[in-house]
Amino acid sequence: MSSAELRDLHSQLAADYDALVARGLSLDLTRGKPSPEQLDLSNALLSLPGDGDFRDESGTDTRNYGNPQGLPELRAMFSDVLRVPVPQLLALGSSSLTVMHDVVAHAMLHGLPESERPWSREETVTFLCPVPGYDRHFAITEHLGIRMVPVAMTDAGPDIAEVERLLAEDPTIRGIWCVPVHSNPTGAVYTEEVARALVSLPAAKDFRIFWDNAYAVHHLTDDVPEPIDILSLAAEAGNPDRVFVFASTSKVTFAGAGVSFFGSSPANISWYLSHAAVQSIGPDKVNQLRHVRFLRDAEGVAAHMLRHRELVAPKFEAVAETFERRLAPYEAGTWTSPKGGYFVSLDVHPGCAARSVALAAQAGIAVTPAGSTYPYKKDPRDRNIRIAPTMPPLPELEEALEGLCTAILLAEVEKLLSA
Ligand code: PMP
Repeated sequence: MSSAELRDLHSQLAADYDALVARGLSLDLTRGKPSPEQLDLSNALLSLPGDGDFRDESGTDTRNYGNPQGLPELRAMFSDVLRVPVPQLLALGSSSLTVMHDVVAHAMLHGLPESERPWSREETVTFLCPVPGYDRHFAITEHLGIRMVPVAMTDAGPDIAEVERLLAEDPTIRGIWCVPVHSNPTGAVYTEEVARALVSLPAAKDFRIFWDNAYAVHHLTDDVPEPIDILSLAAEAGNPDRVFVFASTSKVTFAGAGVSFFGSSPANISWYLSHAAVQSIGPDKVNQLRHVRFLRDAEGVAAHMLRHRELVAPKFEAVAETFERRLAPYEAGTWTSPKGGYFVSLDVHPGCAARSVALAAQAGIAVTPAGSTYPYKKDPRDRNIRIAPTMPPLPELEEALEGLCTAILLAEVEKLLSA
């Protein structure tokens, strides 16, 4: 584009943007929350298990204390898709993020079974953070004083050559954050090859893979990835204790009122339970029973997720359609096409993400702050924007995406003109 054409485009976009601001919108693309219609799919939970129905399959009274492992039938329901044998899978409270936080906190305070000392007594503890990644993972490690080192994500998982190099040169590395299925925010699905490498690479003996399988059943197409049996791969590689598996029903049933899961080797499960026993006399088994009654079995979960898909897929299509129509003609960005999960990852021109998000905010369109997908909220190239399309109704989503595209194009043209 000549500089005259660029100036014309700028005037046009500035006018579009002024008109956008004048509309006084109030739209939100920030957090990956289910929409009210998605939550409605699980409203039957609100009247379950029902008066008088409070015993699990083994006859345990779920109203009372006890059973720190959680309900066996619920663990069985998710055992196959998470590829964790029932005895090694715990059903816990309502938030998997809490379990992740607690696992890291226990490691800091007490160390893992193989640790020479609690992590907090090490001079430095480092986690590898595939980027772009999940901001709340990075918040846990930052909050607990763990150093974070970014690693590039590929379509198949983290760049294994980089992981190998970092592990070889830095003995302080004790963990890596992973979202193996429909990753947050790129939608990448880890390949078995990447999983094998992660469980096999030489590393500290108390190095752990935080395998957060939050989107294990959240598919948007018929192309459903085969679950990876990461615990068996780790055992085969001679590192049976290397993996912590996390998941929850937050985006299956009710966000914040679902059930979380924790799976690992028998030794790690004993380690976790020994610390969890000090925190709690047992999880909310009534909520677990409610989930058993409602979801019934693994097929029930899959059928329920198809109903989510019907509501969510059109929103992802709207993202793809809007970016293709508004951004592609100007080569204004690249974005992912997830086959599941809750997010789309958009890369705009380097140096333009923060300005784009600020312009959108001034026009009443809230977008996750630029940088959020990086440790310490620092995107070194200032180009990644996480799009969370599930929450707003479709017409509002479309309006927000149009406005965001105007903001992005304006930010990029401003930058080109100032160069
Ligand atoms: N892990 C990932 C990757 C997520 O995207 C989310 C929700 N945004 C969570 C965990 C939160 O899970 P929970 O509600 O079980 O704490």
